[in-house]
Amino acid sequence: MANIHLKQELTVEDKMALMQQDARFDVADTEAPDFEQIQADIRAPKGPQTAPKVFLSNDCIFNCSYCGCRCGRDVKTRYASTPREFAQMSYETAKDNGGKVFITSAIYKSPDYTEELIIESMRILRRELGYKGYLHAKIMPGTDPDLIRRAGLYANRLSVNIEVAKSEGYQMIARDKSKSNILGPMGQISRLIREAKAEESPYRPRFATSQTTQLMAGSTGEDDYTILNLSKALYSKYLLSRVYYTSYQYSHQAEGYEERPEVSTPLWRMSRLYQADRLMQLYGFTPEEITPGEAPNLVSDFDPKAAWALRNLHLFPIEVNTSEYEMLIRVPGIGITYAKRILEARRRCRVTHDVLRKLGVSLKRGKHFLTADGKYTGTHSSGAAEFTEALRSPLA
Ligand code: SF4
Repeated sequence: MANIHLKQELTVEDKMALMQQDARFDVADTEAPDFEQIQADIRAPKGPQTAPKVFLSNDCIFNCSYCGCRCGRDVKTRYASTPREFAQMSYETAKDNGGKVFITSAIYKSPDYTEELIIESMRILRRELGYKGYLHAKIMPGTDPDLIRRAGLYANRLSVNIEVAKSEGYQMIARDKSKSNILGPMGQISRLIREAKAEESPYRPRFATSQTTQLMAGSTGEDDYTILNLSKALYSKYLLSRVYYTSYQYSHQAEGYEERPEVSTPLWRMSRLYQADRLMQLYGFTPEEITPGEAPNLVSDFDPKAAWALRNLHLFPIEVNTSEYEMLIRVPGIGITYAKRILEARRRCRVTHDVLRKLGVSLKRGKHFLTADGKYTGTHSSGAAEFTEALRSPLA
């Protein structure tokens, strides 16, 4: 391991207090919007695992325009913890939060140097402090492949943040990052996860079992179709468990970044992206269906499933007694859980509106898009537009 020289003037309590402020520049695993509400709107099962974040250092050599830790910013207090100190902080944080922790850092001195500090902290955490809980670790852009392999020995999950939806975005908002120094580590992690899964053996060194990334909406003026299309490609190519979305915020000037957008992305866009993401992952929707050519952006008034249904009224109403599962889950108000309950009930009886209610299906939205035992109680087939009100779920 390289010789390590660290700033130690601050107390652990001082560093913990500063970490709270730094956490907002890095979303994965925490600070996501209200996942329960997002899931309720589109009726998706339980949200992602979340873990509290601890920062090894806020003293970054990179200069990403949107970040409070960047080297070009006049930050009053910079800190870096020793691996032992950081391992102890991570241990205490995990203990207070149900045995979960996400360890991350600004890029202190160099990506490899920072990753070595993180690996040594994880080693102490696992081997000396006996920590057995969930551990998510950040991989710095451009980290050496051997360090990635070593990080995977201790972490359950690894992540590299892709940040932008278009490669020219790095030039616009984060010049030290590039497609290659991000996709390179991401590719290696997915390969190692695949290999570890394929060759499970007590003699094979372990490796993390999952990988995630973070994507910032609005940093390059891209539309939502571009984001969803990229997410779809990332999920399949890099075996990602989750793409986390964050909204680009313009909070301070950054010299040399004249091309970056000067308006912040509204927070509702992030919530809609999470919903659209679940529709792709769990419901079989494609980016083209959610954000077609004539409507490439998600909207604040309707969740993406409701918006899709309104654009495709010709496909409705469907009959709940005969419809395929794939179509049942596309009915606003019916999700995976209720579609499965309907299929189960179909084996025993004709499904009527009363049966749907007994199964727990809320018909406020669904009744406009279905018939039950031939009976329709909605308004869409009569040409009335009032049902659009039932589908509205505006986000601020
Ligand atoms: S790499 Fe960029 S986003 Fe990450 S801490 Fe450094 S300046 Fe901030």
